Amino acid sequence: MIKLAIVLPCYNEEEVLRESARRLAGLLGQMEADGRISPDSFMLFVNDGSRDATWDIIAALHAADKRVRGLNLARNVGHQAAIMAGMMTAKDWADAVITIDADLQDDLKAIPKMVDEFARGYDIVYGVKVQRTADPLLKRLSAVAFYKLQARMGVESVYNHADFRLMSRRALQMLSGYKETNLYLRGLIPLIGLDSTTVPDVISERCAGHSKYTLAKMLSLALDGITSFSVKPIYCILWLGLAFILVSLGIAVYVVHAIMAGTAVPGWSSLILSVWFVGGVVLLSVGVVGAYIGKIYKEVKRRPLYNIKEVLGGE
Ligand code: UDP
Ligand code: MG
Repeated sequence: MIKLAIVLPCYNEEEVLRESARRLAGLLGQMEADGRISPDSFMLFVNDGSRDATWDIIAALHAADKRVRGLNLARNVGHQAAIMAGMMTAKDWADAVITIDADLQDDLKAIPKMVDEFARGYDIVYGVKVQRTADPLLKRLSAVAFYKLQARMGVESVYNHADFRLMSRRALQMLSGYKETNLYLRGLIPLIGLDSTTVPDVISERCAGHSKYTLAKMLSLALDGITSFSVKPIYCILWLGLAFILVSLGIAVYVVHAIMAGTAVPGWSSLILSVWFVGGVVLLSVGVVGAYIGKIYKEVKRRPLYNIKEVLGGE
């Protein structure tokens, strides 16, 4: 029988935790009765340095129901690293680990389907958003643009999959070999290469509270999603530079021609325009190169991704 762990990253989620635990406990009970999972399956709530009562609530839930376990991180490390902490801890206790956001916007009905696919022999099962009308329009549009850009840049990832997925212990063991500081799990996990499949995930509204993903966090994740897996942006700059040299050669030919014909006019506007334009392109290019250097700087330090302060219900 499959021993299942459900990992939930939590950052200031005091409003949703009790409801999430209640719904998941119901689901675990039901899957246990179906004979899908063993009775010692559990939830693991990862407190990602919350500043509200999140950890106290997790401790209270653990006291009331031993299927609730808790991991208290020493400080806020962000969604991706918090998921990693949960998965790496849970993999030593369970046969398969499902990660899902604490606000339960993802489809709980997909969980038994993921377990069935795992029983069928798949090591990784991705939840794929089939309908996300509950997400704000801006979020949906930016997601589409981002997936397209990512594909253009040659990054392999599962379309419309966020971090709702099942992974086997074996897959997690392999994942632990990828020692990246700039973590983007959706790009990393397809690189593992084991058999994978998808199940549909219908997105609903948050059961309470508000989004903890600020615009800055979203942009930084998007940047990691490209720069951690592709060096194409650097080559784009190279080609852009070449194109600019060609354009300036053309302008030079024109200028020589104008001087010889005696029609050269002192052109303030074209000068000022090109100064700003070229300046912009140079700054942008330096910025892109800088982004990669910044990543190298972070990677070489090999700092731990997270520190675990406390474990509730360990084995
Ligand atoms: N989260 C986290 N650390 C952070 C930010 C978010 O662990 O620094 C968790 C959050 O508690 C939630 C999940 O990541 O369980 C997704 O966040 P949220 O629902 O706010 O994002 P959205 O669904 O709006 O993209
Ligand atoms: Mg959410």
